[in-house]
Amino acid sequence: MSPTTDSPSIAFDNSYAALPPEFYQRLDPTPVSQPELIAVNETLARELGIDPAMLRSPDGIQMLAGNRIPDGAAPLAMAYAGHQFGNWVPQLGDGRAILLGEVMDRHGVRQDIQLKGAGPTAFSRGGDGRNWIGPVLREYVVSEAMAALGVPTTRALAAIKSGDHVLREQGPLPGAILTRVARSHIRVGTFQYFTARQNREAVEQLMHYVIDRHYPDAAQAQNPALALLDAVIDAQAALIAHWQSIGFIHGVMNTDNSSITGDTIDYGPCAFMDTYAADKVFSSIDRGARYAYQNQPRIAQWNLVNFAQCLLPFFDEDKEEAVRLAQESINRFDERFIGYYLSRMRAKLGLVDEKDEDLTLVSSLLELMQTHSLDFTLTFRQLSKRSATDPFAPGGSLHDWHRSWQRRVGEEPAALDAATQLMQRSNPVIIPRNHQVESMIDAAVKDGDFAPFEALLDAVTRPFDEAHEQSDLATPPAPDEVVTQTFCGT
Ligand code: AMP
Ligand code: MG
Repeated sequence: MSPTTDSPSIAFDNSYAALPPEFYQRLDPTPVSQPELIAVNETLARELGIDPAMLRSPDGIQMLAGNRIPDGAAPLAMAYAGHQFGNWVPQLGDGRAILLGEVMDRHGVRQDIQLKGAGPTAFSRGGDGRNWIGPVLREYVVSEAMAALGVPTTRALAAIKSGDHVLREQGPLPGAILTRVARSHIRVGTFQYFTARQNREAVEQLMHYVIDRHYPDAAQAQNPALALLDAVIDAQAALIAHWQSIGFIHGVMNTDNSSITGDTIDYGPCAFMDTYAADKVFSSIDRGARYAYQNQPRIAQWNLVNFAQCLLPFFDEDKEEAVRLAQESINRFDERFIGYYLSRMRAKLGLVDEKDEDLTLVSSLLELMQTHSLDFTLTFRQLSKRSATDPFAPGGSLHDWHRSWQRRVGEEPAALDAATQLMQRSNPVIIPRNHQVESMIDAAVKDGDFAPFEALLDAVTRPFDEAHEQSDLATPPAPDEVVTQTFCGT
């Protein structure tokens, strides 16, 4: 079967494809044998100006499978490089993802529509270019949960089964394709790709492209390159602070998985913590614990240093001055991160005004949670929903801490009621817990049963809904259900 072209149903407006040819490989997805729809994100489709019924139609499914190239699409695989676990890899690129094209959403924001698992490209480096149901469902659920939690992220527009099998360590597995939507898929590694090739012109073009598309204010600044660096530092600081505040561990914070827009991108062995531990690592391939929970801010900054290096020639003609400006900017990461982190953590504790001792209050709570192996999500929730048996109650492990917190809240101008309301909108009842994610994947793979996927998706996309308090999906794992390791599984 070869791809066919049909009448237009998506208003593509492509800009990346207009960049010079060294930015990508133009190619069509490789068709699959028997595509079947798993899910369509109707709300997101409408936001993109795409008719959800079209996506569900036979033609729509063929398109989501890469079997049919819609009119106006300009399919391509993006070139990028990156540091993987600190090691430089000069060429990565979209090895299993193909950008169909871009659309303008309802808010006038340009959005990439990409098929992940659409077949091999020039960047596949021996890989099959495919994806299987496990990572597709995991990314669908976790990225949509993140969006519902208000965390900047790529989105899931659709998932299909390909009808083919892909071979992985575990044996043959059902193939699948995720349709991913992002404000763009440009990464720190995209800049690194051209810097490593000493292609100054391409770096400059990419820089202008990113400023135009994502940071138009930087164009007006006295030093646009420096303004861009500043804006990306700010977006990353805000993003990592948000991750920390919900116990999210990305797992593969390589520079090629570090987005220029400050969105969460590339959901691989990511995981939410159940019990709190600052040094928590889930990813089976992260043997040095480089991407442990507590390291995430430091790693983001390390990635930003690599980004800054790409822009150095544009900060100042004088090399020393350029380095000085970059350093100054990078040094502000900590302050910004702490600012965002504290504002998130204050909200979780129901605190409205800012006090110097707040960081100590937060840190001492986290230390106690670690000592007593308490559930991260539930502990914050219990603070606003006190019961006689929670750890904050007299005799509980957090009783003393609770007294100092109460004193602190008591100093607030806002009443306890307001604090409670703030806490309830800042502390999710439900997150995609690893044991639930895994059992949902098992049901789909072993029994072809997608009901657990649908139930989990429905629940985690209403994360602050109190109704979940009674739900099994919100409950921490029993000791024999605890997941200690997650796999890239690509
Ligand atoms: P990731 O660790 O998922 O961020 O991927 C790192 C690199 O490996 C990227 O260049 C991917 O495109 C590539 N890659 C991952 N899985 C596959 C696959 N199944 N086939 C081809 N390339 C892949
Ligand atoms: Mg990646």
